Amino acid sequence: MKGALVVISGPSGTGKGTVISSLLNSDPNAMLSVSCTTRAMRPGEVDGVHYFFITDEKFSEMIQQEAFLEYADVFGMNRYGTPRAFVEEKTEEGRDVYLDIDVVGAMNVKKAMDEALLIFLMPPSFEELERRLRGRGTETEEQIQKRLGTAKGEMAYADKYDYTVVNDDIDACVEQIKTIISQYKASRR
Ligand code: ADP
Ligand code: 5GP
Repeated sequence: MKGALVVISGPSGTGKGTVISSLLNSDPNAMLSVSCTTRAMRPGEVDGVHYFFITDEKFSEMIQQEAFLEYADVFGMNRYGTPRAFVEEKTEEGRDVYLDIDVVGAMNVKKAMDEALLIFLMPPSFEELERRLRGRGTETEEQIQKRLGTAKGEMAYADKYDYTVVNDDIDACVEQIKTIISQYKASRR
């Protein structure tokens, strides 16, 4: 059977990366799609693992070649895109593929692939979102403000998703997502 394409979105700092790591660790059949981005690499990030870090010119070239399943400008600063070939190959092989992408990208994936499962990850509160974003310590103050400024607009998209899950307790959140995915797969049989 074809694998599931699972899109996870939510404001920066909600815990998407943390939740997806946990899902991947518990399911060898699942894979994360590695996006291309024009943003600078953060300390600890590895090219080809966290993202393919590419130039603006290369990004434009890939758009021309229709190499992206979707792409978007996120925070009005950098471009991010999902390489099409990986997603198509892996889901055809029966692997479940996760996409950690923004709300604009998610809406475009749904248009391109109606069978995609869209899950919106919500922080328990705006204050907690700010705490997590600061606690991560990977952005400058300006970048944090930009991300928090974008968060409310992003949360307005939640009702366009198939499911909304609150990431309060991490283990409970991961369990909830696992249940959603297995019910979704069972319904497709
Ligand atoms: P995102 O990928 O959505 O930007 P991250 O996965 O990087 O978010 O998480 C942001 C920060 O919040 C990290 O420091 C992470 O350890 C922390 N975090 C994630 N989930 C939880 C949770 N359920 N409770 C408390 N802290 C969390
Ligand atoms: P970060 O810079 O923190 O890694 O990611 C910032 C935002 O970009 C997150 O909201 C993430 O979901 C989004 N993002 C990452 N990759 C892609 C992608 O390929 N396409 C789209 N549309 N958004 C992405």
